[in-house]
Amino acid sequence: MQQYRMYIDGRWVESLSGEWFESFNPYTGQPWARLPRGNGADVDCAVAAAARALRDPAWRGLTASARGELLRRLGDALADQADFLAGIEVRDNGKLYAEMRAQTRYLRQWYYYYGGLADKIEGAVIPTDKAGHFNYTRHEPVGVVAAIIPWNSPLLLASWKLAPALAAGNTVVFKPSEYTSASLLEFVRIVERVGFPPGVLNVVTGFGAEVGAPLVEHPQVAKVAFTGSDQTGRQIYQAAARGMKRVTMELGGKSPNIVFADARQENAVKGVISGIFAASGQTCVAGSRLLVQRAIHDEFVDQLLAFARKARLGDPMSPDTQVGPVTNLPQLEKILGYIDIARAEGAECLLGGGRPGAPELGQGWFVEPTIFAGVNNRMRIAREEVFGPVLSIIPFEDEEEAVAIANDSPYGLAAGLWTEDLRRALSLPDRLEAGTVWVNTYRTMSYLTPFGGFKQSGLGKESGQDALREYLRTKSVWLSTAEDVPDPFVIR
Ligand code: NAD
Repeated sequence: MQQYRMYIDGRWVESLSGEWFESFNPYTGQPWARLPRGNGADVDCAVAAAARALRDPAWRGLTASARGELLRRLGDALADQADFLAGIEVRDNGKLYAEMRAQTRYLRQWYYYYGGLADKIEGAVIPTDKAGHFNYTRHEPVGVVAAIIPWNSPLLLASWKLAPALAAGNTVVFKPSEYTSASLLEFVRIVERVGFPPGVLNVVTGFGAEVGAPLVEHPQVAKVAFTGSDQTGRQIYQAAARGMKRVTMELGGKSPNIVFADARQENAVKGVISGIFAASGQTCVAGSRLLVQRAIHDEFVDQLLAFARKARLGDPMSPDTQVGPVTNLPQLEKILGYIDIARAEGAECLLGGGRPGAPELGQGWFVEPTIFAGVNNRMRIAREEVFGPVLSIIPFEDEEEAVAIANDSPYGLAAGLWTEDLRRALSLPDRLEAGTVWVNTYRTMSYLTPFGGFKQSGLGKESGQDALREYLRTKSVWLSTAEDVPDPFVIR
């Protein structure tokens, strides 16, 4: 068993209560690491450290260019450790090593990009209508940021928050998921080596109610950057409102992947498969509703089944494995529960529908890639986020019906569209209620591109220039250039 400490004010510490919890490897079902079980007292120490760091000349006194330079050095240092960090993530969340390695190797780009933006945060001189006045704006850091992340892509989702937050000059207290805390702590070792002053980045490990809730409530926290489920997001939004705190919310989805009869079917099959079975369906953007035009429905579903049947389940560290386990036991039970619900609702299970029988997978938390046909958009399996390898197929007649079904969801995170018709490819994205629309591709993302959901899928954007604004507040400064202050009793 590996033992970790958490990181507060530049020091590696146990929890004040002295309590611990365990992290499990989803492939073996066995615990592999012990972590400090933090609570409100540890949160108080971390937020106090972050608030001190915010005023400390060692951080506040840095020029924006120097902050940018630190971020770029972090990007370089991260690149050297990418494969190691990917291995830690796999041990905690069971996603494929190949996928996590690609992700951790790409992470440095967020630090380079926001490092480059740090000294391009410019205020403006306002051409004022008030004679004898000079008026300008400056963009300041919002303050202490509470960053709360889920278990599916810990370092990616942490970097989406950390890089713009630090570029803007904030300080951060992280609360990683209780299922996947280790990679963030390993990452902090790199941050420490690069030379960020103590208190700029802090990590408190533990559970949502014991660490996350007091962190959100803390009066010295100015902003909450949250990625996770919509239920938790709603609780956090309410708590943040009581303290008038800023929020960004990256929540769940029930994204439609729409295949028209004119699509290149072999490409659409691959896009649909990666949209739902990559990461065993545990991605917020999972294309969990497949909308297929009736004219090609049966033929397309046959092709899809032929492809999906070949998926190899196994050790996520092995390059031969295509589908790994799901991350934790409650998630496994939740997915199996939704499969039961789909059957009870009358959906037809065409593939999978349970745990795999192979004895070598017996210890791990595996769910078979599962496909349901005959789904309609009113069923729970079409409305609620499963966060697992479960695809629901819904037929549609024409463009109007496809748009109506796609938009008939409480969520609005992403949508996929497969068509060779140029008019459709250009006009449909305008009509789809989703923060990201992919045409003839799926899951493409970049540090350059704002990402964030509509409707119940969230608030605000991560990545791109939009994200930097989420971590800044605007101050207006007025200076009078007049010789004399006007008489206050004479209204002009
Ligand atoms: P979750 O909401 O259960 O937990 C997320 C984090 O919030 C964890 O760190 C948890 O400990 C913490 N938390 C729980 N209760 C809290 C409380 N009352 N106050 C403060 N913090 C609390 O989500 P999860 O199961 O870890 O992750 C899966 C969810 O994340 C899915 O719904 C998925 O769609 C979503 N997600 C969204 C995106 C996106 O960018 N939109 C990306 C990845 C995952």
